[in-house]
Amino acid sequence: MTDALNIPLENSYAEDLPGFSVSWSGEMVPKPEIALFNDALAAELGLEALNSPEGAQILTGAKTLPASKPLAMAYAGHQFGNFSPQLGDGRALLLGEVMKDGLRFDLHLKGSGKTPFSRRGDGKAVIGPVLREYIMGEAMHALGIPTTRALAACTTGEDILRQNGREPGAVLARIASSHIRVGTFQFFAARQEVDRLKQLADYTIARHDPDLAGQEDRYLQLLIRVADRQAKLMAQWMAVGFVHGVMNTDNMTISGETIDYGPCAFMDTYDPQTLFSSIDHAGRYAYGRQPLMAQWNLARFAESLLDLIAPDDADKAIQLAGDVVNDFMGKHLRYWQDLIRAKIGLHGQGDDDQKLLSDLFQLLEGADVDYTSFFRNLPDAEQTAALFAEPSAITAWHARWQNRIAQESRSTDAVFTTMNTVNPLYIPRNHMVESALQEATDTGDLTQARRLIDVLSNPFTEQHNAETYTRPAPENSAPYRTFC
Ligand code: AMP
Ligand code: MG
Ligand code: MG
Repeated sequence: MTDALNIPLENSYAEDLPGFSVSWSGEMVPKPEIALFNDALAAELGLEALNSPEGAQILTGAKTLPASKPLAMAYAGHQFGNFSPQLGDGRALLLGEVMKDGLRFDLHLKGSGKTPFSRRGDGKAVIGPVLREYIMGEAMHALGIPTTRALAACTTGEDILRQNGREPGAVLARIASSHIRVGTFQFFAARQEVDRLKQLADYTIARHDPDLAGQEDRYLQLLIRVADRQAKLMAQWMAVGFVHGVMNTDNMTISGETIDYGPCAFMDTYDPQTLFSSIDHAGRYAYGRQPLMAQWNLARFAESLLDLIAPDDADKAIQLAGDVVNDFMGKHLRYWQDLIRAKIGLHGQGDDDQKLLSDLFQLLEGADVDYTSFFRNLPDAEQTAALFAEPSAITAWHARWQNRIAQESRSTDAVFTTMNTVNPLYIPRNHMVESALQEATDTGDLTQARRLIDVLSNPFTEQHNAETYTRPAPENSAPYRTFC
């Protein structure tokens, strides 16, 4: 292997936590090629050398870096409410950790072949979903929302059988501040392996909340930190109209990063029932239910920690952990209020702010108005009215809103300018994402995907020749459906 590939990976998950994973390596693939490479992220982490033919072999799992001890992580999880005591990395590998400024980042592959956790799955991924994860993760990052990020998308030269026939095989390489999930804790809690649970909790604290290390009540404090991060993350998702689609406990991180972009999508018109996933028949993970589902997942995390929170006093543990879970929604609503208030330019406190907001969402619901365009166009009364088929109610609301803005201590222009820094002009619109994925799947051409990623990397600033990316879904387009 060339010297450039002597990348100084660390392997703390393998070394500090023996028995938490299975040492494993990727499968050979016929023709590994880099389709997309995230130069900016690679430069931040010193991973530029991976953008090479040999890098393509490493990023598909066909070859192992000298410093890497690849592994498949064990985890459990509640999937759509039902507990599976063993899920684990069925098609993924943790290659190791990259250090930057004292922080640790996982380098992880998805689609690199079967592992001992694969069950009936083939261990593979195909180009469409790999690109969706790449695009959505980069969009979320640019929007300032905590997320795992794609480092590269590689094709493998294999054709993989999926619902609609054979599709080009691909592997996603991603970076995360860790891959520790609620389900990782559930795995050891379900087996009543309290020592391992404690090891995992201490490892997690060292990595994500090092200021808590050694404190007596650190496990309760960890629960509080996770509650806080998730309460904020849900507010951020809700503010931009993101629908994750599969908020199982194995897809909820302890770090507070968005993870596992499967059937996710951004909402077109405001509707709390918005749902894209073809497998979520009951609408469990619909847009408006996401905070509630995060709280449900948090309760599962809290249960996993009970033996650590108060080892000799179950009642006390339940009381302490229960309080944190019960506080979640209030916490979330405070974050949500702050973000939504900023979206409509409110900074000072007005007497009727609450009513102004609730009236707005009532107006939006059922009005079939593009959610993203609404907030971006809000400074302009005429443009706002033009979005509504029946504009009288919104026109009245707009007048109230303008009066309220006039009471802000800053000039109206300053308020509008600040609104443009929180209301994106460009989001990954479903029809644009779909078109890019379709082109890549059908012809292998990534031109659309590249352009989309480029536009989305700067979501708040108007860009040259990018007007098509601001347009809502074409009229009469069929309801959008996503598949894992
Ligand atoms: P997800 O809900 O997609 O995050 O995955 C849930 C579980 O299914 C995890 O244990 C995955 O590793 C596993 N899984 C998903 N797709 C595959 C696949 N093609 N082959 C093997 N395991 C898979
Ligand atoms: Mg997952
Ligand atoms: Mg997945």
